[in-house]
Amino acid sequence: MSSTPFETFDSDETVDRLQASAAVVERRLGLSRREFAQFCATTATTLGLAAGSDSAIAQAVAKAQRPSVIWLHYQECTGCSESMLRAEHPTLEKLILDVISLDYHETLMAAAGHQAEKARLDAMAAHKGKYVLVVEGAIPLKDNGIYCKVGGHTAIDTLKQCAADAAAVIAIGSCASWGGMPSSGPNPTDAAGVGKALGKPVLTIPGCPPNPYNFLATVVHFLTFGKLPALDALGRPLFAYGRIVHEHCERRAHFDAGRFAMEFGDEGHRKGWCLYKLGCKGPETYANCSTLGFGDVGESSWPVACGHPCIGCTEQGIGFTKPIHMTASLRGTMPPASYPNVVEQQGQTSFASMAALAAIAGAAAGATAMLTRNLGRSTPDTPEPPPAKEG
Ligand code: SF4
Repeated sequence: MSSTPFETFDSDETVDRLQASAAVVERRLGLSRREFAQFCATTATTLGLAAGSDSAIAQAVAKAQRPSVIWLHYQECTGCSESMLRAEHPTLEKLILDVISLDYHETLMAAAGHQAEKARLDAMAAHKGKYVLVVEGAIPLKDNGIYCKVGGHTAIDTLKQCAADAAAVIAIGSCASWGGMPSSGPNPTDAAGVGKALGKPVLTIPGCPPNPYNFLATVVHFLTFGKLPALDALGRPLFAYGRIVHEHCERRAHFDAGRFAMEFGDEGHRKGWCLYKLGCKGPETYANCSTLGFGDVGESSWPVACGHPCIGCTEQGIGFTKPIHMTASLRGTMPPASYPNVVEQQGQTSFASMAALAAIAGAAAGATAMLTRNLGRSTPDTPEPPPAKEG
């Protein structure tokens, strides 16, 4: 039977190997063992991995052989790179730059001109079939891509050249994922995401900017297991984009109770009530912003916690498209407790399942009625509408 990275964690040999890994990283990065252990545990939790998988991550990260990364920039503002490298605490960017071997990055590399292009071609030749290609920014497709050129080559030509021999292609940020800001509105250059430009699906980490931990966790997953994490239909890692923001928002209780901020600075806004009526797109946006502190600044470092509605920056058709203060379409407003916890034999309906279905139908009707009523309220002090007359 083939072994998995989790099978031997309890052995003394594995413990020795883990201590050796921590010692390697301690020397290489100047990180304490505690910081390194915290990083591995956080990454394992972010990825939703089983208990003990932090040990596999520790061993993978400690390996001397790091994956070569070629990082291309096209139609973008460099915010994705900035968010990763301007972390408040030095650990995050240190880890990113240590976990990968960043062989080509136009913003960060000291080389310029022909030297820089040579570095890219050398890295591609030396790591053919093994390097990871990261693309930041949209790709203009109109007029054979002449609206964005680097080193005399169009973005689309260089992208195709680099993608041909890459082990994996990661589109980072909303521009690279689906066109983002450059593709919204009239889109004069026909800006598109990497997948559309290449004509094949790629892993996408949308966001403007995306959370650096989502990128780091994706790369660490690749390092640890030799493959990319599970993705949704849009190429987004499920560990990060599997649920809508509204499901786990810290203001959700206020939404359910009908307590809404009606304008910036009013009493509800100052008290931290729900921002739905200010245009929050959390109910139609898939992302983990509310559960994973943004960057390295810790808790409450995401827009809704700071008092601004979510603008749906990860979501094509919402971010940069839907007006910021337009109210969102509601998805998944049912409480999870309303789902049945029974397994019935196919083709048979028992009294218990009928009772459960009736309860669910009642709960659904009740929840919808409550939602409809609460969405009509601005504060708990707003008088409730009179009961409907019978007959
Ligand atoms: Fe949070 Fe926005 Fe949902 Fe309100 S509407 S609970 S602020 S995600």
